[in-house]
Amino acid sequence: MRDQSVNDQYSMKEHIAEVQIAAENWTPQRVLTWAFETFGNRVAISSAFGAEGMVLIDMASRAGKDFRLFTIDTEFLFPETYNLMDRIEEKYGIAIEKVCSLLSPEEQERTQGAALWSRDPDVCCNLRKVEPLRRKLGELSAWITSIRRDQTSVRSSAHRIEWDNKFGLAKINPIVDWTSKQVWRYIHDHDVPYNPLHNQDYPSIGCTHCTRAVRPGEDPRAGRWPGFGKTECGLHIIDPLPGSPGGGASKAAKFGN
Ligand code: SF4
Repeated sequence: MRDQSVNDQYSMKEHIAEVQIAAENWTPQRVLTWAFETFGNRVAISSAFGAEGMVLIDMASRAGKDFRLFTIDTEFLFPETYNLMDRIEEKYGIAIEKVCSLLSPEEQERTQGAALWSRDPDVCCNLRKVEPLRRKLGELSAWITSIRRDQTSVRSSAHRIEWDNKFGLAKINPIVDWTSKQVWRYIHDHDVPYNPLHNQDYPSIGCTHCTRAVRPGEDPRAGRWPGFGKTECGLHIIDPLPGSPGGGASKAAKFGN
């Protein structure tokens, strides 16, 4: 006999399967309202404060409900990103829940050696992003992300509302079918704050060690993990993690946010 938590998860999984198809025709605002009404304080927006994340935060603030917002703080973010977090808290009147690695940067250097990101970014992302995310998601029933299908091949099959098998909760992607153009139109139309690095040829912004400006004609994510052929940090892939039980040692092209 299944225990209650497994039963709860099973019925929520069934509920997600039921609404998944209908939700493909919902507006992002309706998806957000559904999420807040369905999960209450057991749902939170996950954001690294890229342009897409800023759209979601602004939309959530207009939904007329309290909402939770968390970020994975790798402690290697740009000063501009930390500054943007302060501006968000002030403008929207919320406290961002910041989740860090169990290892400080100094402890990571002591146990893993210097500049782990330059030798094995999958392990570094696992320590500084994926494990903290797994810990945070353990206290939630659903998470809201700002992924878009056309960002990476891994994201191309994402649904607006889906079951996240990897982390065992509902995953809600309100702007999954938006283009970059729609994102920027919303930002300008609604005077949404954004990271000033976007104006300096950084379309995608992560840690200082692993992000560079893109050159004319390059893919928007070419500035992430340059030289590694890696496009995802592991937050949005469905495979087991490298180094985790059942996980392989697959490198690159799978892992980012
Ligand atoms: S993006 Fe780079 S520095 Fe940041 S956690 Fe991943 S490998 Fe480490």
